[in-house]
Amino acid sequence: MIIPKTREEIEIMRESALVVSRTLGMLASEIKPGVNTLQLDKLAEEYIREQNAIPGFLGLYDFPNTLCMSPNTQVVHGVPNSTPLVEGDIISIDCGAIKEGFYGDHAYTFPIGEIDAETEKLLKVTKESLYRGIDEFRIGNRVGDVGFAIQKYCEERGYGVVRELVGHGLGRKMHEDPEMPNYGQRGRGKKFIEGMVVAIEPMINQGTKRIKQLKDGWTILTADGKPSAHFEHNVAIVEGKPELLSTFKYIYDALGIESDEEDKFRSEIYDQKL
Ligand code: MG
Ligand code: MG
Repeated sequence: MIIPKTREEIEIMRESALVVSRTLGMLASEIKPGVNTLQLDKLAEEYIREQNAIPGFLGLYDFPNTLCMSPNTQVVHGVPNSTPLVEGDIISIDCGAIKEGFYGDHAYTFPIGEIDAETEKLLKVTKESLYRGIDEFRIGNRVGDVGFAIQKYCEERGYGVVRELVGHGLGRKMHEDPEMPNYGQRGRGKKFIEGMVVAIEPMINQGTKRIKQLKDGWTILTADGKPSAHFEHNVAIVEGKPELLSTFKYIYDALGIESDEEDKFRSEIYDQKL
């Protein structure tokens, strides 16, 4: 059952999403060759608590850490460890936080220093597919419309769209209805309703869509050993249209990147809060 949120609840969820957005922005300045993912995890936990929020993943389904850190061929759910990051790697960081009982859940794939052109294209296409999906999250559309847009954009460019892991409704629970697959058919699936909040999160592989899981019971990686990317935003339907609750602005500020990619999904309230 989809649980729509009131405008007040959406404003709380904007705060939860911004806690996570700021945390990814803080990490953007810390990610460099030689740093390991456990160190970054510790920084993120402290920073979330400083913002009077609770790490959303720590202990959820018994996950041992604050961040899911998935380098290179890992798709999602990688567990932080003491292996240093290396120039030319990519790392997908997924972060959750709870503020006033509501979850934020937001992810970005970072390059470590200079990466090869092929991997850079994977990141660009995955992020663009996220916005293509968000643009379909509006009254009059259905779950399949978002998945269709993401799948079409990525498969036309030769990428593999992971099937087993999907986006989701978000609220007082980390995973609410509906499931939001990154593949689908136009006009199929549950209807979108005013006030619903979801996490849209394409997980896109450079090669095959097939995945496997490590024996740790968490880490998902590509079956063919090629890289994978993951970008995730939290989005509400407000007055029929998609409104972003999370933002990559803090990451872009840290990295000196100019971008207007979020502008069309931002309300005036949002601009006041940043
Ligand atoms: Mg996530
Ligand atoms: Mg999610």
